[in-house]
Amino acid sequence: MGARARQAEQEEREESARQERLREALDAVRARCAVEERRASDPVEFVHRVEDPEDRELVALIASSMAFGNVKALRAKIADALERLGPDLSRVADDPEAVRARLEGWKHRVYTAGDLACLLVGARRVQREAGSLGAALAAEMQRTGTLREALTAWTHAIRNAGGLDQRLTRGAAHILADPGKGSAAKRLLLMLRWMVRPADGVDLGLWPIPPRALVIPVDVHIQKLGYNIGLTDRQTTSWKTAEEITAALRRFDPEDPVKYDFALCHLGMLQRCPSRRDPVRCEGCGVMPVCRHWDRRAPRGDRSARGGG
Ligand code: SF4
Repeated sequence: MGARARQAEQEEREESARQERLREALDAVRARCAVEERRASDPVEFVHRVEDPEDRELVALIASSMAFGNVKALRAKIADALERLGPDLSRVADDPEAVRARLEGWKHRVYTAGDLACLLVGARRVQREAGSLGAALAAEMQRTGTLREALTAWTHAIRNAGGLDQRLTRGAAHILADPGKGSAAKRLLLMLRWMVRPADGVDLGLWPIPPRALVIPVDVHIQKLGYNIGLTDRQTTSWKTAEEITAALRRFDPEDPVKYDFALCHLGMLQRCPSRRDPVRCEGCGVMPVCRHWDRRAPRGDRSARGGG
């Protein structure tokens, strides 16, 4: 065997050992996640409070549309909106005037009451026509064959049905992302995870879509962790980054690659990952054994070029 072949074999062995360490670290992070405690501070908790299937998916859409920024503040705004709308959400959503009246005065960051009313009314119309929002999305997946195209068509249908496209506000543009435009569409993918992944105490497994079709919702926590443990080389929160991280996770579970998302995201929130070797902030981080800032077996270029020790 020539020197080059030996080196290639050696590199293959090292990569395979690294993948095994990565799998162990991810499984350990998932196993150690205090699911109940973390769920109580997560927007998905609002979905668990509702029994009716139609109300559930509408609550999921509302809660996920606000899932960015300070979690305490966003949970307070979700709670306020849902309280104003009352317990019969789908029935109220059939009446656009009632929705507007109930939400009057509500506001959250760039979202106004009008933006939220259009989202809810549009979603309800699509829900009624297809039987459920999940059925509408599943039908788009059958038609288009890809999650991204299906989600794009699904969001367009809701926007058109509710009149979001007629509103020229920043909130109307932001409240329902268009995955076709290249953004990570984190809030939409988060809602999908809730509704599609098998029920596990966090996700609810309600929609007829296979979990293997999911793409991970990438926010700054997932992007940083994904980069630091070598799931992606991208340093932006884009759809491409989400696809790359998902493809890397598929090696560990092809049928359910997004199962690591909840635990990883909450780990990122708790650690406030500094993306550098910081003994205080990194203490207790479950992915430290495979973090490029700590793993001495990581490629030297990775550690030195990015500030590692
Ligand atoms: S060990 Fe530190 S730098 Fe690495 S992922 Fe964890 S918190 Fe971030």
